[in-house]
Amino acid sequence: MPDNNIQTRLQQVRSALPPDVTLVAISKYHHPDDILSAYHAGQRIFGESREQELALKHSLLPSDISWHFIGHLQTNKVRLIAPFISCIQSVDSPRLLAEINKRAAQFNRVIDILLEVHVAAETTKSGFSPSDLYDLLDCEQWKEMTAVRFRGIMGMATNTDDTSVIHADFQTLRQIYDRLKDQYFNSDPNFDTLSMGMSHDYPIALQHGSNMVRVGTAIFGSPLPH
Ligand SMILES: *Cc1c(COP(=O)(O)O)cnc(C)c1O
Repeated sequence: MPDNNIQTRLQQVRSALPPDVTLVAISKYHHPDDILSAYHAGQRIFGESREQELALKHSLLPSDISWHFIGHLQTNKVRLIAPFISCIQSVDSPRLLAEINKRAAQFNRVIDILLEVHVAAETTKSGFSPSDLYDLLDCEQWKEMTAVRFRGIMGMATNTDDTSVIHADFQTLRQIYDRLKDQYFNSDPNFDTLSMGMSHDYPIALQHGSNMVRVGTAIFGSPLPH
């Protein structure tokens, strides 16, 4: 039986998004039946943060789902998801980037990637510092990686009730995105994605030009601890 609450909340989030904004429903820790409820309400893009959990859900659920990976990805687990993943949003090191390119090529695929940028106050969050990101792109090795498609950046704001801090973080991410687009990807129409905004802060992210939001709790409720 589809869960009406999930379907209602999904529609509420959708109705708050402009038509050009992509909704990634973050289903980590939630049961495959919950994903199916959202699927039957038309949702096709889901995000997960653990390799094994994702591989299992992928095997159980409809094959026209696009899966995005959003968690910290270990290089030795890239091969688990490389055969089917649509987009890896959490590319946070040159080593991981190289590994994704290698595994995608092995499976004759091209995998979309977002470069994760760290601007939030918490040091526990992962992602490239802006300067490490510019170093990576200045190096030009990435231009030879033909099995990854650079689609844009992903980032998180500081986890705080102070909305001025959240505004500032999203503004910083927006500026980094614009700079990358100008300096490195100005002739690449694929570089078009600014992924920012979660359940509690996506309305603010939209004000700063986010065109992809990653919403979990506001759709599925709080995940059970485990
Ligand atoms: C869990 C997670 C989300 C979704 O967070 P909610 O608060 O449940 O909407 C978005 N992005 C990343 C990177 C996450 O880990």
